[in-house]
Amino acid sequence: MAQTFIAEQLFDGEQFQRDVALTVDDGKVIAVGGDHPADAVRLQGLLAPGLIDVQVNGGGGALFNNDTTVSALAKMSAAHAKYGTTGFMPTLITDEVPVMQKAADAISAALKEEVPGVIGVHFEGPHLSKPKKGTHEEKYIRPLSEAELAIYARDDLGLKMVTLAPENVSPEDISKLVSLGVKVCLGHSNADGKTAAAAVAAGATGFTHLYNAMSPLHSRDPGMVGTALISDGCWCGLIADGHHVSAEAMTLALKAKPRGKIMLVTDAMSLVGSDETSFPLFDRIVTREGDKLTSTTGELAGSHLDMISAVRNIRDWCGVELAEALRMAALYPAQFLGTGGGRITQGVQADLILLDDELRVQKTWIGGQEVFSG
Ligand code: ZN
Repeated sequence: MAQTFIAEQLFDGEQFQRDVALTVDDGKVIAVGGDHPADAVRLQGLLAPGLIDVQVNGGGGALFNNDTTVSALAKMSAAHAKYGTTGFMPTLITDEVPVMQKAADAISAALKEEVPGVIGVHFEGPHLSKPKKGTHEEKYIRPLSEAELAIYARDDLGLKMVTLAPENVSPEDISKLVSLGVKVCLGHSNADGKTAAAAVAAGATGFTHLYNAMSPLHSRDPGMVGTALISDGCWCGLIADGHHVSAEAMTLALKAKPRGKIMLVTDAMSLVGSDETSFPLFDRIVTREGDKLTSTTGELAGSHLDMISAVRNIRDWCGVELAEALRMAALYPAQFLGTGGGRITQGVQADLILLDDELRVQKTWIGGQEVFSG
């Protein structure tokens, strides 16, 4: 049955409107604007497109690598929905083939069972650079083989994303992945600019967590960072948590990249939406102090960031206007993924968030279903 809301303020992905009617039916937005029926539900605050996160390792106490099940994905979904995420790419970091297969099976099952918010899978590794491994387990880093290709070729995983190091995967193999429907992102890489540019020419369309675990920009070699910044067709993920990237480095990226090509990601671990303060990662322990996660070996190990905090941070620290900050967390990742989402227009899935004056999430809907109310 159709339901009409009257939003005090609405951001449709392009512009703000006031006192606007929005009608949802069968999980979709069927009308924006028009009459205000007497039985309409009034929503105080700002109604905006749901946020889309292409890099989520965990949430609600579940870490995908440690728990490759549908119930773990449901916990992650519920935890991040509180912070405005309505679509996410569960992310498996470098692990053994059987774990990758189990993760793929869980994704497939979650899509069949319509676990809200799960839209595909992101394999971050295992074809990475050992010198830029970050928190990934060195012993599992390996070249692409038929075993992983068979997983990437599956057609029951929704949207597919693979982060790889271009010095360890040939342009021919990158093109092959693209032909299998995989969005190829470059990351955890020590590649020189030439190698990174060849990967972009072969079809890579993204760079994973810009600046982090990447060869830097040098005067005579743009490295991964420089190549990411000058590759106009590529999207860059950015972890705007104040620990991974400085405000100045984020501002530089915003100035260098064409508008629409930087997307906010969380790289969140299991502790988001949980009271726990530590968790096991392979044979290490990751501990949270404040909102910073550190592994026993000393390096940053993912983040404690959520999407709406990332929106606030990029607005507050880099002077990005609210509309643009919201696009960086919804429209631009949707464009990277090619979903057509990240907007509130007639015909889109009703993935919506209601924000208060301080940009705190009050309500979240996925496919027209209210999944969180604060
Ligand atoms: Zn990473």
